[in-house]
Amino acid sequence: MQHLCVFCGSSAGNREVFGVAAGQLGAAMVSRDMALVYGGASVGVMGAVADAVVASGGEAYGVIPESMLDDEVAHDGLTELYVVKSMHERKARMADMSDGFLGLPGGLGTLEELFEMLTWSQLRIHSKPVGLLNVDGFYDSLIHFLDQTVAAGFVRPEHRAMLVVDSDVARLLDAMVAWQAPTIEKWWR
Ligand code: AMP
Repeated sequence: MQHLCVFCGSSAGNREVFGVAAGQLGAAMVSRDMALVYGGASVGVMGAVADAVVASGGEAYGVIPESMLDDEVAHDGLTELYVVKSMHERKARMADMSDGFLGLPGGLGTLEELFEMLTWSQLRIHSKPVGLLNVDGFYDSLIHFLDQTVAAGFVRPEHRAMLVVDSDVARLLDAMVAWQAPTIEKWWR
């Protein structure tokens, strides 16, 4: 995995562990020669992961819609910052540039981005790994809910299993690198 796209909060959240985990991820990515692709902000968990990659000497690519340049406080220390026309263009660009997608703690934008990549995997638009770093149990209830979607007959177990979850950065990256897309004839029942 040469380019890893990280989705995470534009806020820092209210637990110190969120920023710590972002720093660990950034350092681990650089030690594995993985470049960062992300939303291009300098704030929140987004800023923390980019700062860690840059501080460790790695490559960090930001993709930001022009309407967000002021709002999101674009990071000025990146390898490259791509300014695009729209949110849709941003997400498509990040998806094209990346070999995998990883979610850190975040809010609605993070969830939307992560689930878009998971549904694109289900539809076989791409066959790249999608991972979730469950920092300090932040995603426990979401993981439980996903299991409920399987129990209720809305999601196939194979599709549920596409989301690679771990609380440990190194284990998660290892599992994402080893991940193979499921071979299912049809995504619908
Ligand atoms: P959040 O997790 O809400 O802090 O947002 C994290 C990232 O998602 C930021 O780069 C936001 O610009 C982006 N974002 C926010 N809302 C949306 C949305 N509706 N669709 C896609 N991305 C979004």
